[in-house]
Amino acid sequence: MQTPGNLIEDTFDVLVAGAGVTGICAALAAARQGARTVLLEPRPFIGGNAATGLCIHTYKTKNGRQVVYGIAQEIIDRLIEQGGAVGHVPLPEGYVHSVTPVDADLFRMETTAMLAREGVTILYNTALIDASTRDGHIESVLVCSKSQLGYIKARFFIDATGDADLAVKAGAPARVGWPGSGAMQPVSMMMRAVSVDTARACAALSEFESAWASKRGCPDPIPVYFHGSFTRWNQQLRELGVYDHDDHQFWTNTVWPDQLNFNGSRMANIDGNDPLSLSRATVELTSQLQKLGAFLRANVEGFERASFLPNAFVGVRETRNLQGLYELNEDDIRVGRKFADTIGQGCFPVDIHHPDGKSQQHIDVGGDGAYDIPYRCLVPKSVENLLVAGRCISVTQYAHGATRNMAPCMTTGESAGIAAALCSQQSMPAAELPMSRLQPALRRAGVYLGEMAA
Ligand SMILES: Cc1cc2nc3c(=O)[nH]c(=O)nc-3n(C[C@H](O)[C@H](O)[C@H](O)COP(=O)(O)OP(=O)(O)OC[C@H]3O[C@@H](n4cnc5c(N)ncnc54)[C@H](O)[C@@H]3O)c2cc1C
Repeated sequence: MQTPGNLIEDTFDVLVAGAGVTGICAALAAARQGARTVLLEPRPFIGGNAATGLCIHTYKTKNGRQVVYGIAQEIIDRLIEQGGAVGHVPLPEGYVHSVTPVDADLFRMETTAMLAREGVTILYNTALIDASTRDGHIESVLVCSKSQLGYIKARFFIDATGDADLAVKAGAPARVGWPGSGAMQPVSMMMRAVSVDTARACAALSEFESAWASKRGCPDPIPVYFHGSFTRWNQQLRELGVYDHDDHQFWTNTVWPDQLNFNGSRMANIDGNDPLSLSRATVELTSQLQKLGAFLRANVEGFERASFLPNAFVGVRETRNLQGLYELNEDDIRVGRKFADTIGQGCFPVDIHHPDGKSQQHIDVGGDGAYDIPYRCLVPKSVENLLVAGRCISVTQYAHGATRNMAPCMTTGESAGIAAALCSQQSMPAAELPMSRLQPALRRAGVYLGEMAA
C-alpha cells in the first residue's frame, strides 16, 4: 500500500472540517478576516442538515427580541431577495416567538456562491479521517478523497463535523450520547412533498400551532409552518406498518404555496457515528416515508396530486460533544445565564427527542429569554490550535437540546471562524486568545454578543 503524501502542497491559515451551517459560517468568517481557508465536506454538496428542508430555529427570544445576527441574518436577507425565505414569521401560541423557513436548495446555492466570492477552497467528497498532532498541536489532517488518501496542512483548525470527529482524532475528550448509557436522540429523515395544495393540507393536518406568510409573487398567504399529529389515523398507520407507535407528531415548513418539507419519521437506537447503523436507518426510514407518502396521497386533503421525495440521507440529532474548557448546562439555559467570554447568544429552548423515540421534552430559556454561549465551550482542553463549533460544542446532553439548533450553530460557526483567523495570524493557542481582541472583532462582523461582553 502506498504511503499517503500531501493532497495539497500549500499550508492553509484555517482548515474547517464539515460544511453544514456551522462550517459554512466558520469558513466565510475566517476568509473575511483574510485567512486562506479550506473547507472539507464528504458529501458532494454543502449544507449538512440544513440541506434537508428544515426551518432555522431561532433568531428571536420568546418575547420577540432578536439576538441572532451576523452571517446567520445575512443569509436570510439574501434568500428573501431570491424568494427562498420569508423572514422570521411569528408563530402565535407557539413554543417559540417565530420560525424561519428557508428553501434548502436555494440555501445551498446561495451559500456556495458566498463561499466562492470569499475565495474559500471547498473540497467536496473529502472526509477527514485522522489528525497528525505533536505536543497538543495539530500539524495536518489525513483525508480520504474519492480513492485517495492525503494530508492537508493548516495553522489552525475548526471542527464543524457535528460529531467532533477532528477533536477526537486530535486527542480531545468528548462525551458520547447520554452519560452512563451513551444513548442518543433518535434520527429522522426529512421528506419533500411537491404538488401539494398547502392551504388545504394545513386545514386537514394542523393540530397545534401554525404560521402563515406572504411573499413577492405569491399574493395568498402560505402556511409556512405547522405542527400536528396523526392520532386520528393511529390504527391505519399501524396496519400500513408506517409507525410502531401511536400519536406520531410531525412538523412541516415551506416557503412555496405548493410544497411542504415534512419532518415526520423517526428511528430510535441508531448510532450516528456507526456507518452500519446509519445505513440501516437510511433503508428503513426511506421505506417508512414512502409508505407515509402513499398514505397521505390516498387519505388526506391537499395531497391528492402530490409526489413525495424522501431525503437522500438521515438527519442525526446527537452523537458526540466536546468536553472543553466549560460545559454549558441545563441550569445555564433555565436561567438565561450570561458570561464574560460570550461569543453570541442562543434563545431556542431545550428540545429533546427522548432516545426511546416515544416522547419529547421542552425547557424554556429563562431570564430575558437568551443565554450567552461562552468561548470556552469551543475550546478543547488539550489541543491548542483547534476550535469546535456547532452541534458538537462543549455542552451537557440537556443544553445540547438547545445549542444543536441551527441559529446557535451558525453563531458558534461564525465566532469560531473569526477566532481561528485571529489565532492563526498571531500563532496563538485558542485558550490564550483574549476577549479584548475577539469580542470587538465579532462585533465589527455584526455578531450580537449580549450585554456581558467587554
Ligand atoms: C430531523 C432533524 C430535525 C431538526 N429540526 C431542526 C429545526 O427544525 N430547526 C433547527 O434549527 N434545527 C433543527 N435540527 C438540528 C440542526 O439541523 C442540526 O443540529 C444542525 O444543522 C447542525 O449543524 P452542523 O453544521 O453543526 O452539523 P451538520 O449539519 O451535521 O453538518 C456537519 C457536516 O460535516 C460533515 N462531516 C461529518 N463528518 C465529517 C468528517 N469526518 N470530515 C469532514 N466533514 C464531515 C457532514 O457531511 C456535514 O455536512 C434538526 C435536526 C434533525 C436531525
